[in-house]
Amino acid sequence: RLMTATAMMGVMMKGERESVTVTIKGNGPMGTLVAVANHGTVKAYADNPRVELPLREDGKLDVGAAVGSEGTLTVIRDLHMKEPYVGSVPLVSGEIAEDLTAYFAASEQIPTACGLGVLVDTDQSVLCAGGYMLQLLPGADESTIDRLEEAVRRLGPVTEILRQGSDAAGVLSQLLEGMEPELLERVPVSYKCYCNRERVSQAVISLGKTELRDMIDKEGSADLTCQFCDKVYHFSKEELEALLTEASED
Ligand code: ZN
Repeated sequence: RLMTATAMMGVMMKGERESVTVTIKGNGPMGTLVAVANHGTVKAYADNPRVELPLREDGKLDVGAAVGSEGTLTVIRDLHMKEPYVGSVPLVSGEIAEDLTAYFAASEQIPTACGLGVLVDTDQSVLCAGGYMLQLLPGADESTIDRLEEAVRRLGPVTEILRQGSDAAGVLSQLLEGMEPELLERVPVSYKCYCNRERVSQAVISLGKTELRDMIDKEGSADLTCQFCDKVYHFSKEELEALLTEASED
């Protein structure tokens, strides 16, 4: 759900190097969730991706309980200007779509309807995932708002639409029925991680001298795994010692 939403927010970013990061720090067993997207790619990780919880009464996965209903949702938009734009709101339910709706209302003052759904197979693999984000432009009149609210109610849960095999255009045409929606762009989305040795080295350096020295003394070398794509980066003792010289005293 978080990846679907972040991918949609990423598509709204125009520049090649612009990115959006959505972090959810909830008090549930999943721990922190992070998703990063730009115009067409997305990547994500969860502190604890394997959480076993009983299904909700309606038979759905209990996402709210896994994420937790207390905590924060933070959005960082990196437009490659001096400072990234950062906005943060308290979690509403941990169900993600509701939390994002609250974020857009409180932090960006954009009335938003967000629906997210994931169909999970019996072996826990994802059959399909999808969603929508409807946002009002300034000056939208009351009758438009009423029509959209009614359309969102009529549409129902996203998982049902996915089950019926509807694609993004299909969801849009249902939500904007009678409003003559115009499809401006279709953007393929893929899971992609841009990690490389240079970035991982920078992360090692940012640990600081004390922790790095400790790592060298205790482990000798280090195998660091990228949280987003599971790629392993090996650093020999000599390489760690070279990074140590660049680390700052803490
Ligand atoms: Zn990676």
